[in-house]
Amino acid sequence: MGLGGGIILGGRALAGAGGYAGEIGHMSINPRGRMCRCGRRGCWETEIGEDAVLRATGKAPGTTMAEIVAAHAAGDPVVRRGLNQVGRWLGMGVADLVNIFNPDVVIFGGDTRQLFEVTEPVVRAALHTALAAPNEHVRLTHPGLGADSSLLGAAELAFAPLLRNPLATQGAPAAAG
Ligand SMILES: [Zn+2]
Repeated sequence: MGLGGGIILGGRALAGAGGYAGEIGHMSINPRGRMCRCGRRGCWETEIGEDAVLRATGKAPGTTMAEIVAAHAAGDPVVRRGLNQVGRWLGMGVADLVNIFNPDVVIFGGDTRQLFEVTEPVVRAALHTALAAPNEHVRLTHPGLGADSSLLGAAELAFAPLLRNPLATQGAPAAAG
């Protein structure tokens, strides 16, 4: 599964020139990492994405993040070690973003929500590699809407034109950008 992000500046999502902004999964953070599907090596996605979590924890494809988190809670040493390794890369990538954007808040959604929950001390330790001033400012948190946040956000995006101006879209087929 891929890794992406939304960058909200001044209350608006940063789209970029062609709508591709936020491909944070393809920041190259580990020069000795694995080849990524994009052609680069050691992208953030290859270090903390679903495949990376399965590899690091020794779990078979198809194992869910919830199952891995349960193994972590049960004290499985291989899973704990693996998740901490992935958590370090999560923190290193967040440190890059904190240096670039000096954000108020970083919200971990999707599988990174659970990954952050179980590796928070490791993530915070790695985040100390960021510059001091933006690191002191940033708040790390989970989405307020929980596990369904990505889905609800996508639904809201699709309905946004209708909610903004119900009469303008009356009778027109529903369309999501
Ligand atoms: Zn990549």
